[in-house]
Amino acid sequence: MLERGEVANSWRRERWDSLRLLTPNWQTRLPGLRYQGQDPDGYMTAGEVTEFIERFAAVARAPVRTGTAVTSVRPSGDGYLVTTGDGEIAARTVVIASGACNRASVPSFAGEVPASVEQFTPFDYGDPDKLPDGGVLVVGASATGVQLAAELQRSGRPVTLSVGEHVRLPRVYRGRDVLWWMDTAGVWDQRYDEMDDLTRARRLPSPQLVGTPERSTLDLNALTALGVELVGRWAMVRDGQALFSGGLRNVFSLADLKLRRLLDTFDEWALTSGRDAEFGRPERLEPTVVPPSSRLQLDLGRGEIRSVVWATGFRPEYTWLDVPVVDAKGHLRHEGGVVDSPGLYALGLPVLRRRRSTFICGIEDDARAIIDHLAGYLG
Ligand SMILES: Cc1cc2nc3c(=O)[nH]c(=O)nc-3n(C[C@H](O)[C@H](O)[C@H](O)COP(=O)(O)OP(=O)(O)OC[C@H]3O[C@@H](n4cnc5c(N)ncnc54)[C@H](O)[C@@H]3O)c2cc1C
Repeated sequence: MLERGEVANSWRRERWDSLRLLTPNWQTRLPGLRYQGQDPDGYMTAGEVTEFIERFAAVARAPVRTGTAVTSVRPSGDGYLVTTGDGEIAARTVVIASGACNRASVPSFAGEVPASVEQFTPFDYGDPDKLPDGGVLVVGASATGVQLAAELQRSGRPVTLSVGEHVRLPRVYRGRDVLWWMDTAGVWDQRYDEMDDLTRARRLPSPQLVGTPERSTLDLNALTALGVELVGRWAMVRDGQALFSGGLRNVFSLADLKLRRLLDTFDEWALTSGRDAEFGRPERLEPTVVPPSSRLQLDLGRGEIRSVVWATGFRPEYTWLDVPVVDAKGHLRHEGGVVDSPGLYALGLPVLRRRRSTFICGIEDDARAIIDHLAGYLG
């Protein structure tokens, strides 16, 4: 196992200070290692995730060579030649587990934002004090965007949040964590080869969730109540003006509709499994409140906005992979983790084999399936 940094490098180096997992502790598990603390319904800090992964590496006696960056993997004979900062390795098979979130995805028009406005991604954000005083435009309303918008607004900086397609979820539903419902009702077990639109499932934005001791919901209504201003999707920059799409009402209705459908699935599961009486009554959330008038443009040169935080998603980086298996959008071509080149495999990508693959707890099933295939190939 080759690791350019240290064990759990992404959790040590690439997360903002206040980040906690949005998945509850009972769900944070690796093969043979479960959470054993006093707070199964709590959410780990990044530091606790680091410790958890370190413990796993020790218990599993994982043969990790830290500080060893892979600079190239290329076909060679009946396998691959792996070049590292520390020499070359010939391997018949290679498993790519380099992560799905190595870089921030930032739209190309970021280059047209006036120089007077400082720009940040989740990688260089850290905490609110990194930003200058004054207004902040947070772009993207998925897990990262809603969390940073709330934190920045609470720090006293007026926040404008640019909202595109998003996934709305309550933190707790009928007395249980919403991710408990997804787990128990089998939503996360859905397989990649059973999905109508796998490409879409793999590109789905992360849900509007935050892990806090209070288990509070952090949807757009909660942000509006905090004083965050909502605007539409940021479409372009023209003459120093940020231009936003209209149609917030439609975007909100779609997220509300999907949420209602999901809650219907949970209620139906509770009834058909005979467990309905265990939970509180079915609940429905208030629709997302549409601002009376949302701004369609914002003058970036006027001083109202002093910084932009891009919470527009993450992407993997394969600049070191000299095998033609990356598509035009920068994603690996693979079938459930079996990459489109004999002996090459992938783990740790969104919806790799199941919906749960996106999360830490998804690795056990995925790794088993990939190892079976790999062993068969070698055999
Ligand atoms: C902001 C954020 C929040 C998240 N929250 C949750 C959550 O609440 N719950 C949850 O279950 N999951 C969450 N995830 C997903 C979580 O990161 C993954 O489930 C898990 O960390 C993936 O582990 P991984 O080992 O596949 O990838 P990573 O953690 O990205 O690890 C990949 C490793 O590969 C190394 N590497 C990359 N390129 C090279 C190279 N060329 N040579 C050598 N080494 C290399 C990196 O240094 C890194 O250590 C979150 C992800 C992000 C980005």
